[in-house]
Amino acid sequence: MFSFLKRRSETADGLETYEEVTEKSTTRAGSLLLIIMAIFIVTIGQTIFSDLRKIPTIPMPPAYCTNDFINDYQNRQYASTCTFTDIDREFGIEEQVKRILPALQQIVKLNSQINALNYQNSNLQRQIEQTQNQYDVSLQEKMAKEEVLYNRTDIQQTITGLRNSVDTNNAAIAILQMERRGEVATVEPYIATLKAAYEQAQNSYSSKNAWYRFKVFGLMLLFVLPIFAFTTRWYLSQKKKNSPYSIISMAVMGSFAILFLQVVLVFLYDIIPHTLIERILKMFLSVPILRYILYYGTVFIVVAVFGSIVYLIQKRIFDPRKVAVRRLKDNKCPGCAFTINPFEDYCPKCGIMLKETCALCNNKRIAQLPFCPVCGKRKPQQNASTPLAQR
Ligand SMILES: [Zn+2]
Ligand SMILES: [Zn+2]
Repeated sequence: MFSFLKRRSETADGLETYEEVTEKSTTRAGSLLLIIMAIFIVTIGQTIFSDLRKIPTIPMPPAYCTNDFINDYQNRQYASTCTFTDIDREFGIEEQVKRILPALQQIVKLNSQINALNYQNSNLQRQIEQTQNQYDVSLQEKMAKEEVLYNRTDIQQTITGLRNSVDTNNAAIAILQMERRGEVATVEPYIATLKAAYEQAQNSYSSKNAWYRFKVFGLMLLFVLPIFAFTTRWYLSQKKKNSPYSIISMAVMGSFAILFLQVVLVFLYDIIPHTLIERILKMFLSVPILRYILYYGTVFIVVAVFGSIVYLIQKRIFDPRKVAVRRLKDNKCPGCAFTINPFEDYCPKCGIMLKETCALCNNKRIAQLPFCPVCGKRKPQQNASTPLAQR
């Protein structure tokens, strides 16, 4: 792929370094082996990267349970288990949480009790409704003078019993809620200081984490950059020598280029405010028109990138000078690909000039090729730039 994009040093006629496009750099098996090698290098690179990430001490974030307590201590139904880290100790978070933990646990317990009673009450309420329906049916039966299925006195007793249970539960809930308010009141004063300490710890963690990531980036760069530079030099020197083995160095260089790009892109993603990018992206995706602009934009960029790569390849292959040489090789007119014979001076189909007089030896020479077959001299520069003259 790289060889397509690399511009060769060309003389004015562009033919001296002409490379036949039909001649492959390697066989299919060779390419496959090189691809496997590249995948292997990139995979090993990932293992090394993950090992390098372990070298600097990884900072630990403050325990997340604190965040739960700060934001939602009044309504929690279950207690988070806290695993405190050094940073919690450093900012006194562990101590503070432990001080209010019994009260918090008490609140959690009361909440679940209140919840259970509320659940019971909703069940009771449903039963009351059902019984009420039976009662209504029995009233209708009475009016219709039918045989009475439901005993209305029993029904009324049931309803009263259920209502009493609801009342008892409500009384219990009221007591529990009062107790809970008491617990909340004892916890409340500590929450503000805990919140401040937690924010400080978070900030400290963020900067420690940024520093850690920077160190990892440095280590990765230290690993990948020298090898990348070395393989690039190796590749370029082989390419210069036009070595048939340059494809091997190209594959190695390509693999390290991927690893190098990975390191740089990950670092860039870390340092740019990607929350902002995510937010913008989310905004784009939420508005239909913007979403389609984004989709079309992406398609456009993909087409532009891939299209221009293919354009460069096509331009190299279909360069008029190269087309001319390819056609002449097959005894075809360089202008229209009509079959010609070597004695003709002009193409009988398109009229293009095939032979011209050599300016140095006055013999006939092929107009589109750089060297004279008789004197072996290169065509003077002024004609060279327009090999397809007189089209
Ligand atoms: Zn022709
Ligand atoms: Zn000549």
